Amino acid sequence: MPQKARILIVDDEKMNLKVLADLLKDEYVLVLATSGKQALQHAFGDFPPDLILLDVVMPRMGGHEVIRALKNNDKTNNIPVIFVTALDSIEDEEHGLKLGAVDYITKPYSPPIVKIRIRNHLRLVHQYRLLDQLAHLDGLTEIPNRRRFEEVFQKEWTRSARNGIPFSLAMIDVDFFKQYNDHYGHAMGDFTLQKIAKALAGSLKRPADLIARYGGEEFVMILPETDAAAAMVVAERSLQRVVDLNIPHQFSQAADHVSISIGLATITINAKILPQTFLMTADQNLYLAKQTGRNRIVGSLIGQ
Ligand code: GH3
Ligand code: MG
Ligand code: MG
Repeated sequence: MPQKARILIVDDEKMNLKVLADLLKDEYVLVLATSGKQALQHAFGDFPPDLILLDVVMPRMGGHEVIRALKNNDKTNNIPVIFVTALDSIEDEEHGLKLGAVDYITKPYSPPIVKIRIRNHLRLVHQYRLLDQLAHLDGLTEIPNRRRFEEVFQKEWTRSARNGIPFSLAMIDVDFFKQYNDHYGHAMGDFTLQKIAKALAGSLKRPADLIARYGGEEFVMILPETDAAAAMVVAERSLQRVVDLNIPHQFSQAADHVSISIGLATITINAKILPQTFLMTADQNLYLAKQTGRNRIVGSLIGQ
């Protein structure tokens, strides 16, 4: 892990917490909880742990109930849970593992072995995250790829529908890019796509905004909680940033440099449409921007 990993230790016995904390405090950032309820509060909070050490028998909410809640939530179901318990029968262990724990440590345990097991599980977490990142990045431009776009779009769509907040989308396509490739070569084309991706990423200011490579020379921006006017500001900034790259394109009929066209769509509170229709609207607006001269933005509002 690049930074110290964060471990949540859950046990109703303060003495047990202390023993584990003393064992692990030099290597990890520790968060301690003395009840199942507290454990869930930490896990669902703003700084979720990288791994959880969980006692089984606790008053009110036991470890089994805690792990069920963790596994039932998208935000926490990937956090590895290790049971640390005095319940040492084969049946108990089988039950714990069936509930989704990655490991089961019975008391009394050997401190060095506990340390090694924890280190191994954290290494797996780290590797999983690296792979997950790679699977969601576009190889050429190193911005999020289509797969990431689909995931974030679904999430933001649901969130905006639930909260009734406006939500904007921008479809972006490089103008006369076939001509560019034909005359300057595919390698230059690739290089130019990288520069455009960087310029577009730089025009986003909010952490929830997302730019992804949609495919070929097309990009897409997700602008959550953004009304039509604010989306237009982002689109204008994006257009300008690409113009400012000042990459010569003698064979473009839109400008003497590389330019983009943008189709914007914004949905507002009362819009009852399908997500596909939303995407299609942005795409149709992009088509209109192309039809009416390129190097420009066309936007529209769905709903009122
Ligand atoms: P328009 O202004 O209407 O968008 O015209 P266009 O030429 O950009 O559109 P068209 O869809 O005909 O061509 C897109 C070109 O983008 C074709 C393809 O060679 C190029 N392209 C797509 N993906 C890549 C890529 O990864 N690298 C490079 N170098 N070129 C790409
Ligand atoms: Mg295209
Ligand atoms: Mg194009």
